[in-house]
Amino acid sequence: MTHTITVIRGDGIGPEIMDATLHVLDAMQLGLEYEDADAGLMALEKHGELLPAATLESIRRNAVALKSPLTTPVGGGFSSINVELRRQFDLYANVRPATSFPNTRSRFDSGVNLITIRENTEGSYISEGQETSADGETAVSVTRITRKGSDRIVRYAFELARKTGRKKVTIVHKANILKSTSGLFLKVAREVAAEYPDIEANEMIVDNTCMQLVMRPEQFDIIVTTNLFGDIISDLCAGLVGGLGLAPGANIGTDAAIFEAVHGSAPDIAGKGVANPCALLLAAAQMLDHLAMPDQAERLRKAIVATLEAKDGVTPDLGGTGNTMAFAKAIAARL
Ligand code: ATP
Ligand code: MG
Repeated sequence: MTHTITVIRGDGIGPEIMDATLHVLDAMQLGLEYEDADAGLMALEKHGELLPAATLESIRRNAVALKSPLTTPVGGGFSSINVELRRQFDLYANVRPATSFPNTRSRFDSGVNLITIRENTEGSYISEGQETSADGETAVSVTRITRKGSDRIVRYAFELARKTGRKKVTIVHKANILKSTSGLFLKVAREVAAEYPDIEANEMIVDNTCMQLVMRPEQFDIIVTTNLFGDIISDLCAGLVGGLGLAPGANIGTDAAIFEAVHGSAPDIAGKGVANPCALLLAAAQMLDHLAMPDQAERLRKAIVATLEAKDGVTPDLGGTGNTMAFAKAIAARL
């Protein structure tokens, strides 16, 4: 079966890492078809819009997009194009794997293999209810947690565990202090967990989770949590295993999914051909999982690991002397 995916080349280092990623995907001969769509600064220059309707239609039609980083210019109408994409497609699950890789100069180069699943639509990041008093002395914001939002994110976590053969889901909360909001999340999470007796469920308070992640990250398998905690924890986890150049993420909704690198457009190194393509490549592996090609996803991940192990063509951020395309070719050669 052929799949058509929407490809957004993005800004800054975006086109370079997308070329590298598509080079590797092409070498895998998966029968994927690509449909190019513009967003970000590049779209503003070509079409006068940051997020053209044609791009939204392409994502809606194909239901799967692979996306490079986008630059949101200040004063462009959106606070962030990424946030607007999440809103348009109700991409409620932000899925961030953190796996230790060899030769990364990070704190853990083995033993970490976890996925953080962050609720992406509610919690402390809703835009309503933000108020600062007239005298500027007091600020108030609203946190909203719903049964529906909590149920679907926790269910996503348990379903993913089943699908990928993972054994444990850790529900991360602060219900001891945030009794109403985090309390509701925990209550619903317990109910959902009870429907999955085959998957171990445990609960952990967010502050303790941070300490445990730094001291014994190997105890975690899947973490599921609300928006703010998930934002912080997923970056903490990226830092445990080698930083931004190796951190992929997926934003998943009922009708569409967007796969991306976690890092930004890195204007400081754009155009130099030295950006690390691994984060986008690992996002492509997540995409293959999503497209029900888990063996191909594993094949791609193994080639990345083997290339890091051999330090073949690796980019300067990992201490290598290679470049974006050399790295991609070294990975393609190990597929
Ligand atoms: P943006 O404004 O798009 O968020 P930024 O510069 O604020 O861009 P990042 O792009 O996330 O933030 O980059 C932070 C730092 O990490 C920069 O020094 C950048 O060069 C480096 N970096 C990010 N991604 C990569 C990559 N794929 N390969 C190598 N270095 C990277
Ligand atoms: Mg940034």
